[in-house]
Amino acid sequence: MLQLLTASAAAHGPVNPWVALAYLVAGVFFILALRGLSSPVSARAGNRYGMAGMAIAVITTLVTHLNADIWEIAIAIAIGAVIGLVTARRIAMTAMPQLVAAFHSLVGLAAVLVAGAAFLNPDSFGILGADGTILGVSRIEMALGAAIGAITFSGSVIAFLKLNGNMSGSPILLPGRHIINLGVLISILVLAGLYTAAPGMGAGDGYYFPVIVLLAFAIGFLLIVPIGGADMPVVVSMLNSYSGWAAAAMGFTLGNTAMIITGALVGSSGAILSYIMCRAMNRSFISVIAGGFGAESGGDSGGGEKIDRPWKRGSADDAAFLMKQAETVIIVPGYGMAVAQAQHALREMTDILKEEGVSVKFAIHPVAGRMPGHMNVLLAEANVPYDDVFELEDINSEFSQADVAFVIGANDVTNPAAKTDKSSPIYGMPILDVENAKTVLFIKRSMGGVGYAGVDNEVFYRDNTMMLLSDAKKMCEEIVKALG
Ligand code: NDP
Repeated sequence: MLQLLTASAAAHGPVNPWVALAYLVAGVFFILALRGLSSPVSARAGNRYGMAGMAIAVITTLVTHLNADIWEIAIAIAIGAVIGLVTARRIAMTAMPQLVAAFHSLVGLAAVLVAGAAFLNPDSFGILGADGTILGVSRIEMALGAAIGAITFSGSVIAFLKLNGNMSGSPILLPGRHIINLGVLISILVLAGLYTAAPGMGAGDGYYFPVIVLLAFAIGFLLIVPIGGADMPVVVSMLNSYSGWAAAAMGFTLGNTAMIITGALVGSSGAILSYIMCRAMNRSFISVIAGGFGAESGGDSGGGEKIDRPWKRGSADDAAFLMKQAETVIIVPGYGMAVAQAQHALREMTDILKEEGVSVKFAIHPVAGRMPGHMNVLLAEANVPYDDVFELEDINSEFSQADVAFVIGANDVTNPAAKTDKSSPIYGMPILDVENAKTVLFIKRSMGGVGYAGVDNEVFYRDNTMMLLSDAKKMCEEIVKALG
């Protein structure tokens, strides 16, 4: 890394110490931003640090790159800002994962375009050697940046289409895909090696780079297409990591320290998040990176046998009565709460219960909803106190002492099949042990609806479960009325 930095610096000439200092300050702001984003309490401050760091980095770059056409850049920034603002205001919380995937695809594409520009016009990037060809070190950076960027782009486009429902969430399995993937990856590495050694070799020099980019587009597609629904959260955070590494590689090509720092921060934080998500879903990190990992464990995640067994239906009055009598209620929110936007009514319900002396806690599964932290964001939006919100490992043992587990629009994250049924697509995923509570109140709209992994849930049919079939918001509002 250090050698690359020095070689890159040599290619781009000495760095102005004031610029280096400004980029360093921006880097410190980015680290503070990551630190802030690690807790809902400090997330707003974290976002502000990130914005300040980005402003310093952008202004420094604009001021010190005298050859840049300021008007062209201003127009591009204005167009981007308008699109960003409108999208951020309009987007529904439930559509956030596909938006993140779409943004990652843009980062990947930007890396490919920068590398492409350097390939076509190396002189303006200051990466030409004495022999008039692109320097070896710059070739490595360009090949790496373009390859990772292209993988990020095509992989993110597929992730977007799957999450947005334009493409089936089920895994699409090509025969011999692991061999094909390995073959394509090896070809990319061999071509990158040839490209680096190409100066003076004549013929191939002009072709290696575009072929690397085309193969990388293909491998991004091949890696993500076989991945099934339940594994998508890990894919999204992995692509986040890839987009960071692509940006870091392009930082070397552009001789821009801020981009190297930012790219490395995004790359490593994305990798750490992927690792945490893998642990939460009991997946192996290596098999995630290899791609197609979700398909092995459960086959078609859209299936799942329906169990034809008796079940108990309850009403808002029943739920209100049971919870009023309870000492402890643990609430398990999931994707359905987000769809119904039930968090405010739920908050109202918990306030009344607390006034009645009931102890109310929230149990959050790391992959509840459709993105990491989805439930925390919604509960924070409804002003649920952070102290009432607990992570899976901190609260799971408490279900056995709880009077009521109140499951609101969560399904997969409560499914005991993850512990017992080896053929289930979610087998091995840690789950919230709601069935251990004295009574389970389970809100969903119909007995026919399944969760993201597409499987039935045995909890519905337990003796201690009462199904509250309704839209989550409507049910919470009715319970609030019944409690009043
Ligand atoms: P699930 O998708 O398993 O279940 C959602 C439940 O909500 C269903 O039972 C559905 O049943 C119910 N529901 C939907 N709309 C409403 C509504 N308006 N009112 C009441 N109920 C409703 O969600 P979980 O949160 O339990 O699990 C998350 C799943 O998503 C996991 O499999 C996870 O791997 C996956 N995932 C997670 C991501 C993340 O980063 N967190 C990203 C991508 C996927 P019905 O239709 O009958 O109402």
